[in-house]
Amino acid sequence: MSASAGTIVAYVGLGSNLEEPVRQVEAGLRALEAIPETRCTARSSLYTSEPMGPPGQSDYINGAAELHTRLGAHDLLLRLQAIEQAHGRKREIHWGPRTLDLDLLLFGQLTIDTALLKVPHPCMCERDFVLAPLFEIAPGLNIPGKGALTDLLRDCPSNHLKRCG
Ligand code: ATP
Ligand code: CA
Ligand code: CA
Repeated sequence: MSASAGTIVAYVGLGSNLEEPVRQVEAGLRALEAIPETRCTARSSLYTSEPMGPPGQSDYINGAAELHTRLGAHDLLLRLQAIEQAHGRKREIHWGPRTLDLDLLLFGQLTIDTALLKVPHPCMCERDFVLAPLFEIAPGLNIPGKGALTDLLRDCPSNHLKRCG
């Protein structure tokens, strides 16, 4: 979907592997709809993927959402982090288990590289659990600096992704 005047189309990746992950991601999707100056215009199915962080973790539930927003990228990131906090997100181990992870994948066609925010999200192009849900809601996307989403998904290594609802 294209943006109307003054809005940007942004994409968010959602992930959870703690405390009823499906419920966490579904609640995360509802919380995105409540962000001010923002509409959630599409959401993907949910997927399961094998964890890529430390061993011994449960599988992940992943999904993606499309937003139309009038917020700036950093304000949107703050909103996403507030939702993570409301879901009891703790950062103890790098890539460790989490109740809810909300990554800002894309913000229009902008490239952003600040201490707090990097867009496109780093490594998203090597993660099928990011690319496949994104492809479901926006198959024609171009990832700035990386290329066509369809090509990136074809070349992406497998995390044994399965669509689950
Ligand atoms: P990864 O970023 O590899 O998926 P992660 O999601 O586990 O790992 P977090 O602990 O959630 O990482 O985030 C670490 C920091 O990443 C955050 O404090 C945030 O400032 C920064 N960050 C940079 N770019 C982004 C982005 N596009 N979306 C979300 N966070 C980002
Ligand atoms: Ca992440
Ligand atoms: Ca994150």
